[in-house]
Amino acid sequence: MRVLGVEGTAWCASAAVFDAETDAVFIESDPYEPDSGGIHPREAAEHMGDAIPRVIETALGHAREEYDDRGDDEPPVDAVAFSRGPGLGPCLRVVATAARALAQTLGVPLVGVNHMVAHLEIGRHRAGFDSPVCLNASGANAHLLGFHDGRYRVLGETMDTGVGNALDKFTRHVGWSHPGGPKIEAHAADGEFVELPYVVKGMDFSFSGIMSAAKDAYDDGVPVEDVCFALQEHVFAMLTEVAERALSLTGTDELVLGGGVGQNARLREMLASMCEERGARFHAPEPRFLRDNAGMIAVLGAKMAAAGDTVAVADSAIDPDFRPDQVPVTWRSGESV
Ligand code: ATP
Repeated sequence: MRVLGVEGTAWCASAAVFDAETDAVFIESDPYEPDSGGIHPREAAEHMGDAIPRVIETALGHAREEYDDRGDDEPPVDAVAFSRGPGLGPCLRVVATAARALAQTLGVPLVGVNHMVAHLEIGRHRAGFDSPVCLNASGANAHLLGFHDGRYRVLGETMDTGVGNALDKFTRHVGWSHPGGPKIEAHAADGEFVELPYVVKGMDFSFSGIMSAAKDAYDDGVPVEDVCFALQEHVFAMLTEVAERALSLTGTDELVLGGGVGQNARLREMLASMCEERGARFHAPEPRFLRDNAGMIAVLGAKMAAAGDTVAVADSAIDPDFRPDQVPVTWRSGESV
């Protein structure tokens, strides 16, 4: 089984080829980088229109060159998988249109993938874990997922913004370019602790109060390095606390990390140390699989295609608010990929 994945939920135009036999994943990505401010949906969609054909061509070219098991008249992949949501509607529409056209041209099935379930599944796949809890710490989302009764249930989630978007709002206030997370990480290295609000309610967390307090602290003259350090300590401790509670609640001893904020070394350190203390195993996929990428779409697409979980073009509408718990998990019993 060889699958082409296409991703473009927000900022990253990406195509990938996953070969299940060798477990090799080739990813070609082209990020949208706003001149100023955050991600503008129309500009991001224009970027998708421009970049998606290019990245697909490169990925398909790779499949044709790398694998010589098929004739020139055979399709180089067995299915086309695409991110159906959640994400920005204008971007999702461009990506879905490209995926549908490609699947029909190649004469292969189409697979509609939930982007957040893909963030989880790539960690489970790479770690070889059976049934982990997943902390998805991404730009537009922040939640804990656990498998129960055929679906990935949302055990805890943000009550306002995604964790990366919250960090990006602070850095925009400071005047730094998008994305802000890596700049916070770099400046935190020279910072000291200052107190900010810490908001965990049961299994949920909130970031809006802490971001307002961080902006106020910066405006009041607290060194930006200290604010960055404190932001990381507070926000990541909140995520780690709820991740630990999710492990405890489910009785699971496997944790995987997903999403672009997962590239942060301090977050990984906190999660690893929490897991070590309770005797749980922790896996953070390599950075290319944490930030938005089509590799995770291709891998989950292959699992779904192997389970016969494909979608007719007529039923393949995008869903900007597609929640992970809306997805019947068809691929885990009798898993062959
Ligand atoms: P989603 O997957 O929910 O659609 P997204 O499309 O915004 O989110 P991701 O690639 O998962 O994309 O995450 C991007 C976010 O990751 C941005 O908010 C960015 O600031 C943040 N980020 C990237 N690197 C780091 C880092 N080293 N530390 C903290 N945050 C980071």
